[in-house]
Amino acid sequence: MDAELILDLRLPLGEGPVWDARRGVLRFVDIHAGGLHTFDPRSGVHSVVHLGEPLGCLTPARDGSLILALQSGFARFDLSSQTLAIFACLEPHLPGNRFNDGKCDPAGRFLAGTMDDAEQAATGSLYVLDADRSVKALLTGLRISNGLGWSPDGRTFYFIDTPTRVVMAYDYDLENARLSRPRPAVRIPKEMGWPDGMTVDAEGMLWVALWGGARLTRWNPVTGRLLQTVPLPALNVTSCAFGGEALDDLYVTTARKGMTAEQLVRYPLSGGLFRIRPGVTGLPPVEYAGGDGGR
Ligand code: ZN
Repeated sequence: MDAELILDLRLPLGEGPVWDARRGVLRFVDIHAGGLHTFDPRSGVHSVVHLGEPLGCLTPARDGSLILALQSGFARFDLSSQTLAIFACLEPHLPGNRFNDGKCDPAGRFLAGTMDDAEQAATGSLYVLDADRSVKALLTGLRISNGLGWSPDGRTFYFIDTPTRVVMAYDYDLENARLSRPRPAVRIPKEMGWPDGMTVDAEGMLWVALWGGARLTRWNPVTGRLLQTVPLPALNVTSCAFGGEALDDLYVTTARKGMTAEQLVRYPLSGGLFRIRPGVTGLPPVEYAGGDGGR
């Protein structure tokens, strides 16, 4: 299975791909640049909006807007007017923190985690933004909040705090967004790299991007076994998301951050957007249920 280069962007920190099914486009971010990227696979057109502050992740919302996890908090971005409205500032007491990965749960809540941008302190938290715009913390004491996903039945939540090299599984209470019974699902061997972003396919298997590992991997979360490895010509593989009308394209983001001159020579395409045809489909993407917050 080959990874096809779609956009040679050489981004410092390409991340957070999400399929915007309503418009048939892929959205992703370049975190520190605050870049909101859009790729339309039908036309091949790629565009960027710069938001003026770090952007960890985003989700399309049911009202047609995008909900962003900016450094200063959750915000609503209106695509037609290109206006931004921050509505929840969560960590004004932690100026070194920023948002990292995030995704909607099967009920349409937006879960997004924060981290110390210097990657030193365990000051990160995983938050859940409900449809009514109320926010609560689900996990605290995190170092690099990453890799969110749910089992096809929505009852199991998968989460990665990258330095642990473990994909954790939790029972997920879909009614109340509560986590219980944490247990390790997959342990990533040291020589494979660091687990970063993740997606779950229609068979319930986990696709885990490996930072520093130049590969995407597929794992069985029940047995913890490695099922498949897809090499990429980019060193830091950051995240992946299924897209396309049939959800059979797997888009992969990558990054150049932290690479040595030698590594950049060996992996010149690092920071690009790639696509894989894995022969399995993704779960239907979920939009944020709130949008304008019902107001
Ligand atoms: Zn990540």
